[in-house]
This record gives sequence, C-alpha cells and structure tokens, in this order.
Amino acid sequence: MSDTKRGIVKELKCSDAGFDCDAVIQGESTEDVMAQAGPHAKEAHQVDVTPEMQEQMSPLIRDV
Ligand SMILES: [Zn+2]
Repeated sequence: MSDTKRGIVKELKCSDAGFDCDAVIQGESTEDVMAQAGPHAKEAHQVDVTPEMQEQMSPLIRDV
C-alpha cells in the first residue's frame, strides 16, 4: 500500500522574505520549501541562505 500522492501544502512568497521578487516557492512541507528556497535565493538573488535566515523565513511559510 503506497499512496504517495503529492500535495502542495506550504508556500513561501519570496517578497515576504524581503526580496523584490514575484517568486512563490511551494512544497509539500516546510522542509521542502526551505530546500527549494536555498537554491532560488542563490540563483535569483546571489544570496546564501544561512541557518539564521532559515529561522527568520520559517514563520513566513504559510499553509496553502
Ligand atoms: Zn526570489
């Protein structure tokens, strides 16, 4: 029995994290969103997401 239906349940608006950016990062969990936010911040904003930033960003992740 494996019901592995993917569900987008969390999202982070990049603009809420302080960037002038329209990107909305969606994922199946807070961890999933964070995992995508790192590469996005690096590619789009030349910013390395530090553990401190992750802490600040996690309250911004909302239920979809
Ligand atoms: Zn962005």
